[in-house]
Amino acid sequence: TVTAEPAGFTQTAHLSPVLKQATPVVVDHARGSWIHGTDGRDYLDFTTGIGVTSTGHCHPRVVAAAQAQCAKIIHAQYTTVMHEPLLELTAKLGPLLPAGLDSVFYANSGSEAVEAAIRLARMATGRPNIVVFQGGFHGRTVAAASLTSAGTRFSAGFSPLMPGVHMAPFPYAYRYGWDTDTAIDFALDELDYLFATRVAPDDAAAFLIEPVLGDGGYLPTPPRFLQGLRERADTHGIVLIVDEVQAGFGRTGKFWGHQHAPGLTPDILVTAKGLASGFPISAIAAPTALMAKAWPGSQGGTYGGNAVAAAAAIATIDVIADENLVENARVRGEQLLAGLRALAGRFPAIGDVRGLGLMAGIEFVIAGSGGRPQPDATAAAAVQRATTGRDLLTLTCGPAGNVVRLIPALIVSEDEIALGLDRFERACAEVFG
Ligand code: PMP
Repeated sequence: TVTAEPAGFTQTAHLSPVLKQATPVVVDHARGSWIHGTDGRDYLDFTTGIGVTSTGHCHPRVVAAAQAQCAKIIHAQYTTVMHEPLLELTAKLGPLLPAGLDSVFYANSGSEAVEAAIRLARMATGRPNIVVFQGGFHGRTVAAASLTSAGTRFSAGFSPLMPGVHMAPFPYAYRYGWDTDTAIDFALDELDYLFATRVAPDDAAAFLIEPVLGDGGYLPTPPRFLQGLRERADTHGIVLIVDEVQAGFGRTGKFWGHQHAPGLTPDILVTAKGLASGFPISAIAAPTALMAKAWPGSQGGTYGGNAVAAAAAIATIDVIADENLVENARVRGEQLLAGLRALAGRFPAIGDVRGLGLMAGIEFVIAGSGGRPQPDATAAAAVQRATTGRDLLTLTCGPAGNVVRLIPALIVSEDEIALGLDRFERACAEVFG
């Protein structure tokens, strides 16, 4: 039932074969939830450039803001001359950030911002070790890849990686075949065991965790686990870094993913992706007292906090507020997850449906294999290809590549979710009969 790699991936000729193409689509133009291909087809986009174009493709207000800024100044290097869009963006971000995180540093990509957060945590604590959680994805630069455990494909072959990174289990209840509480108890216990056996807590600079594991399989981090990290961070003077690159900016139905853990405040928040609707800009936020522990000049970069990207980010924040997009993500996310759960019963290969807001993951397993669920990457790849064939763009994720993820724009409508669900169901029917 599994179709072969479709022919026609010719657009990659002369582009490095290192780029692994998920679809053969070449985009002509895109609007809202739709990508219009040079093949004349209209694709419903449930990938949003890997969770980036949250206000939809080419939102008119984002386009207008970027165009207007282009005509004023495109690149005002922020350590040479400061520019107004960055000042305005910082003022607008302020009320959205967790209480006390009143200082912001800008870079270009998620990976760079993660690196900035690690650098800051090490400088602030004078400690070497970073504790990460299995399945986490934090980027592709060598340091960010060192912090990543969402699959060996992200680090195999170019070791040695950055030292001082230690990995603790993530409460992946479905994989263990446990209920969530058992998985949380296990993961917190193993963390304490790591502290007892390998990493003295007083040598730990930071915890680094995503509120929802992204590339690692679309697994919401249980609130009680995050709270367990917060308690240990407070006890031992460890910096709690939340990587909100994929889960932040409204995607999960709250403005920040960590807000699903009531009362939790991180020490450093990392954001990128949805921040500017597709323009490259990222940021970390921390209390001024923490930020000030880094020497002036120890962080920076040529392009960080680009003026056009900052203008697009300002427009993005306005659009999210004016169009009530965080609430839309919550409501449409519930519709999406309910629809997926309803169809899961029809296909035994669907082992788990999970997510938060508009981050939905469907985990494919070998049906009836008994014991722990056995990942079925072939099924996930076949479904992903079949959705493309039905003009619905989706992606896979997870260490084994056996999770299909759906990441619609925050502006997605009820009808578009219904259409996406219909196409997804037909794709499953095509693959599994
Ligand atoms: N952190 C998370 C949680 C991510 O999802 C990603 C990108 N998928 C990154 C970091 C890295 O971001 P970038 O690709 O912009 O470097």
